[in-house]
Amino acid sequence: MTTPPVCDYEGSDYQTSFWDKGGREYEDRTEAIALRRLLPKSGRILLELGAGAGRNTPRYLGFDRLVLLDYSRTQLEQAQQRLGNSEKYIYVAADAYRLPFVDGLFDAATMIRVLHHMADAPKALGQVKNVLAANGVFILEFANKLNLKAIFRYLLGKQKWSPFTLEPVEFVKLNFDFHPKVIRQWLGNLGFDIEKTLTLSHFRIGILKRIIPTGVLVFLDSILQWTGALVQVTPSVFVRARIVGRDGIPPVGQDGILSYFKCPDCGDSPLVDNKSFLECSNCKKKWGVNQGIYDFREPMR
Ligand SMILES: [Zn+2]
Repeated sequence: MTTPPVCDYEGSDYQTSFWDKGGREYEDRTEAIALRRLLPKSGRILLELGAGAGRNTPRYLGFDRLVLLDYSRTQLEQAQQRLGNSEKYIYVAADAYRLPFVDGLFDAATMIRVLHHMADAPKALGQVKNVLAANGVFILEFANKLNLKAIFRYLLGKQKWSPFTLEPVEFVKLNFDFHPKVIRQWLGNLGFDIEKTLTLSHFRIGILKRIIPTGVLVFLDSILQWTGALVQVTPSVFVRARIVGRDGIPPVGQDGILSYFKCPDCGDSPLVDNKSFLECSNCKKKWGVNQGIYDFREPMR
């Protein structure tokens, strides 16, 4: 089955090189604040899309169960080491364009720093919509092409692409920035209602991060985040969207983890549990289960 190209962090030390040693404390702390402001305090089951090594996962602990999804198995192994193997966490290696979950399963989903790598963003957003229950909440972070730095660079002739036009810009292979208006259109077309918009990383400028204490920048950013309701010219934007006008989907997933999944190839459910794999009774494909990670990327041979 062909899907858009996937940005794969397999074998990457992204958590260490980018977050732990990359001078990203400011970004990490401002994201924690935004998530506190946007996330429901509690819930039944949350899907974390592009969970990586589980950096944000401890921020979702108000939910009874957390499903960590990433395309990279090694990222999920790092998350397992960080979070442990408790009933609370379910680790799933899968393609965001072919989610292996039954419709209406989740009461919340988050996608932070992930859309950035989506060549077909509307397709991925459509998948999220399908797996959310009625009134489900979706927290989406996107990289904003209409940011001040890009605007100045463009006006000074130092950058070819225009930050004002609506199409996404791929500034490095499989790295996309989006216009806020387009994100609103895509979400609106899918039936999402945007309830809140926060802007982040107002001070993502190397020299400021070096000379001003991080705590001060985080405090100022936390105040300015609210201006996102009016204007979005920062490199990172968070929205809370809710799926509206959707009923008739019965509550699912009450009967244990097996009832969560469907075959990502043919959509059939439930799958049959054979311990080391889940088998689709319709198309007969086998999906591996290995050391606590459900693997729906490619069927077993
Ligand atoms: Zn199948």
